[in-house]
Amino acid sequence: MGTGDDAALISVPAGAELAISTDTLVSGKHFFADADPYRLGYKSLAVNLSDMAAMGAKPRWALLALTLPEELVNQNTAWLAEFSKGFFTLADRYHVELIGGDTTAGPLNIGIQIIGEVAAGKALRRSGAQPGDDIWVSGKLGDAALALCHELQQITLEPEEIAQCLPSLLTPVARVELGQRLIGLAHSAIDISDGLAADLGHILAASEKAACINIIDIPCSAVLKKYRQQSIAIDCLLAGGDDYELCFTAAKTNRREIEKLSVELTLPLTRIGEIYSGAGLTVKDAQGSAMTLDSKGYDHFNA
Ligand SMILES: [Mg+2]
Repeated sequence: MGTGDDAALISVPAGAELAISTDTLVSGKHFFADADPYRLGYKSLAVNLSDMAAMGAKPRWALLALTLPEELVNQNTAWLAEFSKGFFTLADRYHVELIGGDTTAGPLNIGIQIIGEVAAGKALRRSGAQPGDDIWVSGKLGDAALALCHELQQITLEPEEIAQCLPSLLTPVARVELGQRLIGLAHSAIDISDGLAADLGHILAASEKAACINIIDIPCSAVLKKYRQQSIAIDCLLAGGDDYELCFTAAKTNRREIEKLSVELTLPLTRIGEIYSGAGLTVKDAQGSAMTLDSKGYDHFNA
């Protein structure tokens, strides 16, 4: 845990800027109170790594503020050991050093601050989208939200289907390497934590641009495809959070480079639409008709 002093000291490498972000997971809001501690430790770092990925930053350091109920400390010391194992499995994979932290008694709450480095002036931003840019997403969308809908008994998946979707919810993969490789290729980027429509909406707002995407082009698993006729699956695809994939925009002239990157990283990168002048997001359904936005995400009933 750093130097053992009152604060951690870090030297900023020459020519670099620090990218700093924090994310808190609250019991009952972001995870079930009885969640597996290993997965919780893993996911709480993964969601922070995802913010580094969105900026094209290399994650370097983390600070952890853990609030633990007395019963977890007193009755079950294994909880903290398992949580740490999950956290450090991921931290070690990305060479992230834990340089500080704090533990307090209270309702279970996990706060992580992450610090990464990126070449000065080169970070990926939300504000750089240009008219004519392709809109890309990594991986597949919607499985995490679909798994959550199953857990909340809003939909019933077959046992093998829930087994396929659950890892997206419990142990998401932050696209750390992709983010760094997109510097110089992408005009704008964001990680999908709140759902594609909302997060692409953040790019559009910051860039003061409009976009049109086609729902049939959004990459999804065979499981999600099977339930695609149900409005809940469409919600998972457009408004489901917790995917932690990257959404980015790039000039059409970079298509070949991005396709090569996809092969190199063995990570699907899919074009789902285009950036235009103007404002707002249009989503076209399978028939090419515009679907209607509602305040939360998408109102499929008006489609
Ligand atoms: Mg984010």
